[in-house]
Amino acid sequence: MNDSGVHEVVIVGAGFGGLGMAIRLKQEGIDDFVVLERGDDVGGTWWANSYPGCQCDIPSNLYSFSFAPKHDWETAYPMRDQILEYLRDCARRFDVLRHTRLSCELLGATWVADQQHWELETTGEPLAARVLVVAPGLLSEPWSPELPGLDRFEGKAFHTARWDHGDDLTGKRVALIGSGATAVQAVPAIQPRVGKLHLFQRTPPWVIPHMDHPVRPQLRELYGRVPELQRLSRAAIYALRELMVPGLTRHPRWLKAQELNARLNLRRQVPDPELRRRLTPDYEIGCKRIVLSNDWYPAIQAPNVELVSSGVSEVRERSIVDGDGIEREIDTLVFATGFKPAELPIAERLRGREGRTLAEVWDGSPEAYLGTTASGFPNLFMLYGPNVNLGHNSIVYMLESQINYVSDALRTMRDRGAAEVEVRAAAQDAYNFEIQERLAQSVWNNGGCGSWYFDSNGRNSIQWPGFTFEYRRRTRRFDTPAYRLAPPTRAAGQSSSVGGGGGSAGAAAGVGGAGSVT
Ligand SMILES: Cc1cc2nc3c(=O)[nH]c(=O)nc-3n(C[C@H](O)[C@H](O)[C@H](O)COP(=O)(O)OP(=O)(O)OC[C@H]3O[C@@H](n4cnc5c(N)ncnc54)[C@H](O)[C@@H]3O)c2cc1C
Repeated sequence: MNDSGVHEVVIVGAGFGGLGMAIRLKQEGIDDFVVLERGDDVGGTWWANSYPGCQCDIPSNLYSFSFAPKHDWETAYPMRDQILEYLRDCARRFDVLRHTRLSCELLGATWVADQQHWELETTGEPLAARVLVVAPGLLSEPWSPELPGLDRFEGKAFHTARWDHGDDLTGKRVALIGSGATAVQAVPAIQPRVGKLHLFQRTPPWVIPHMDHPVRPQLRELYGRVPELQRLSRAAIYALRELMVPGLTRHPRWLKAQELNARLNLRRQVPDPELRRRLTPDYEIGCKRIVLSNDWYPAIQAPNVELVSSGVSEVRERSIVDGDGIEREIDTLVFATGFKPAELPIAERLRGREGRTLAEVWDGSPEAYLGTTASGFPNLFMLYGPNVNLGHNSIVYMLESQINYVSDALRTMRDRGAAEVEVRAAAQDAYNFEIQERLAQSVWNNGGCGSWYFDSNGRNSIQWPGFTFEYRRRTRRFDTPAYRLAPPTRAAGQSSSVGGGGGSAGAAAGVGGAGSVT
């Protein structure tokens, strides 16, 4: 922190994105930063989602930081607890915990133009930062429908991302709403112990067989002794997954083999043709995330499970009423209804150069340059921002690409003596025009499914429309021509070590000193 109490960098969020950014700052010799995390622990997604069966659907050897391999994953696809332990371990090992304020939420951030810094209001003490990196996650704000009568319900009701472990569900009558990736994991995990499970399905998912299996202790040991072997496995998994990109982004018919796989899986596991019909999606495979499971269909057919497809019309004190008016007594209501990624609260909390919030500027349709920077918001970097999400590969890879980009931006600021960087509106517009043109050909936009990839204006603000290595290439260097760079103002220079030549600011993001700035 400099003499005026301005930190070089403040990071919001302690999931893969925020922790990865913090670790990189340390590796670059930047020590003057703070991580704000509203949760009680680090881990983000993997801390918040503790529902039974929670698992990543990217293989373990790939779903980790490239610089921090873990040789002893217990299963081929990592379970939530192992990922959480991994992230806690990274935070400890790379000395990030010292910088982290847990249970501290960012409530608002305002760009102060003459001081060239962000002023932050938090649930703890106020802060100021030269550079603000927000890594709030895309899937961190649980969404559930406003069901008529829900406030009258006398049983327990909770979202899968806020699982109530005080309610162990044994012998209970449960209604679970949703049939996406989360439901597919949670239902088989709770089905054996509940008394009755009413599963409210709106749209059935495409489900393919899961290749998960325990990793043999000998192999774990081998990975520990010969890390190159695990790196090879990681590269092979990555490359295989990229093979899906042409089908997802341009030629959906190339996904027909996947669809055949899913249809065979359904036929093999569900003998009843009427039930099979109800479980067959009416949209193209890939339009929504393809789900992996061997026990979803068996769980649905268990005698204590009932599939309800007519929707929910009402919730009463002790029951739920479906779209056909049939009432079912229940004790617990579980929402496996996902998230609202296109309406993240953080956008309402960031106020830029012209005094408007990011949400006001976006007006329902989030957009950024390379999913990372936004015109009108100097020195702000977003991780897992607009159009960075994937349907086929590891988000950690995308986050690491963004972290490279932010690091290079900080280096550029130092080298050029810039106190301020802001993407030019023209660069941002051209980039988003290209992204939307490409998405127009994708299965997400044409596959006939309504999905959370679309914002309230009907625009796909979520998906990245290409190979992930293209994104990596485009974020490899901070591309200064796309940016306005400004030297320190007199006020900023006087009120901080920036330009004064001292303190960590000059050495870190190094926004000090007058220089030739474009
Ligand atoms: C159930 C589930 C399964 C998933 N499965 C996969 C998968 O198989 N493969 C894959 O690649 N990805 C998967 N994802 C996506 C996953 O979110 C990313 O892979 C990755 O974990 C994102 O990391 P992040 O740091 O960007 O966000 P998060 O992990 O969401 O972390 C963001 C953090 O920011 C904090 N935060 C938000 N706002 C504030 C604020 N105002 N102040 C302070 N703190 C704040 C949150 O509390 C949270 O801890 C899954 C997500 C979910 C929910």
